[in-house]
Amino acid sequence: MLSKRLKKVANNLRKPIYFADIGSDHAYLPCYICAEDPEAKAIAGEVNEGPFKRAQKTVRENDLTDRIQVRKGNGLEIIKMDDPINQITIAGMGGKLIKSILEQGKDKLGNVERLILQPNIDANIVREWLMENSYQITEEEIIEEDGYIYEIIVADKVTSITFLKRDEVLFGPKLLQEKNPVFIKKWTLEREKRLKLLYSMKKAKQLPDEKIAQWENDIRLIEEVTY
Ligand code: SAM
Repeated sequence: MLSKRLKKVANNLRKPIYFADIGSDHAYLPCYICAEDPEAKAIAGEVNEGPFKRAQKTVRENDLTDRIQVRKGNGLEIIKMDDPINQITIAGMGGKLIKSILEQGKDKLGNVERLILQPNIDANIVREWLMENSYQITEEEIIEEDGYIYEIIVADKVTSITFLKRDEVLFGPKLLQEKNPVFIKKWTLEREKRLKLLYSMKKAKQLPDEKIAQWENDIRLIEEVTY
């Protein structure tokens, strides 16, 4: 059964679906989508041999080789210029890695109208990249599953972007409007983590003053939204 986290990613794909799932591992997401929607097609990309083989196995076992291509390669390099994909999913990685995959593969984004991203950490880095590259955040979700909190970001290509404010980059524009209990839980925990880290950094004199000021400012922002 597909995880709640990947179901949230799946629910944001728009029909007609022809998408690339980058870092697909078992290819559970493309297999779920193609089983649900007989018209859907997908490319599952994997850089590592083990997950690549796992993806091939799942696709074979689900009898979906005619609609899901499993390709081995780094990030968006597995996408060919004439692949008619209109959406990309990247889930279960850190925000820095997601950003570098998108940045390195910018030339492959020409026809990609929608990105559905699920960074495990550093979602702010992803939001900044989206804003700088004319992808407007249209949906966001925050969920808890098996003791972990996940954020899902959906962004659509636009011709004129509305810039995000610093707090919107940090918390997510939609999540900030909603402020649901999972959001409050995440940021209450984040505040404690950041306070502890800041305290030890100050003690060890490891951070320049401007970094300390930036961290203190983020902690103040967190307090404003959680209290
Ligand atoms: N997307 C699945 C999910 O959310 O459950 C799998 C997530 S798994 C933690 C991350 C996967 O990304 C691994 O299988 C890893 O091999 C793959 N990966 C990491 N860097 C990658 C890259 N640059 N290009 C393609 N795949 C990558």
